[in-house]
Amino acid sequence: MACQECDLLQRIPPLPVGGKARCARCNFVLAARPTDPLQLPLILTLTALIVFIVANAMPLMDLAAVGRYASTTILGGARQMWLDGERITAVVVVFCAVIAPACHLLLMLVVLLAARRPPLPHWSGELLRWGLHMQPWAMYDVMLLGILVALIKIAELATVNPGVGMYAMGLLAVLLPAIAVTFDAREVWKRVAWKHGDDLAAAAFAEENYAERGR
Ligand SMILES: [Zn+2]
Repeated sequence: MACQECDLLQRIPPLPVGGKARCARCNFVLAARPTDPLQLPLILTLTALIVFIVANAMPLMDLAAVGRYASTTILGGARQMWLDGERITAVVVVFCAVIAPACHLLLMLVVLLAARRPPLPHWSGELLRWGLHMQPWAMYDVMLLGILVALIKIAELATVNPGVGMYAMGLLAVLLPAIAVTFDAREVWKRVAWKHGDDLAAAAFAEENYAERGR
């Protein structure tokens, strides 16, 4: 394996439970083996999915000015942008706040659930790849900052109350990076069946586990 930091090529030995392998040159953690490497990401993904539904179903904020009252959700706001002629912004908002996180979380959930019974079917590797491609596009942190800046400006003109949706977005801005930090794609890859020959993959997985148990 090439070290991510300094590119030194090294062979990773089978690790005991709780063990870590560090780079011989720069001390970067090359591999770690938690007790159940896929359980924490699964719990975080399930939680994030529930919070995601709340963030999209509940109002982001309530606005009140000169006797008029308005309340909107993420999709409601995007729809209003579209109607106001800001079509590109509306599409970007829907993609980054709804489509990308939904695809990321659903694909991760399917892969993590499937990974509980290895070997995974070959197509699950493709799902994982798409799930990881979608992850950088789920930009709740950027969106929250934008909304907060706009809120501070609007607050001079109107009464603004953040809604449940806004708190849920704040939670998602923490949960999504938490999934990325706890999830190690290599743990899924080594459970994926090979394109030709499931027996080979099963044998490789069994051999790896046997070597790990032997330590
Ligand atoms: Zn290194």
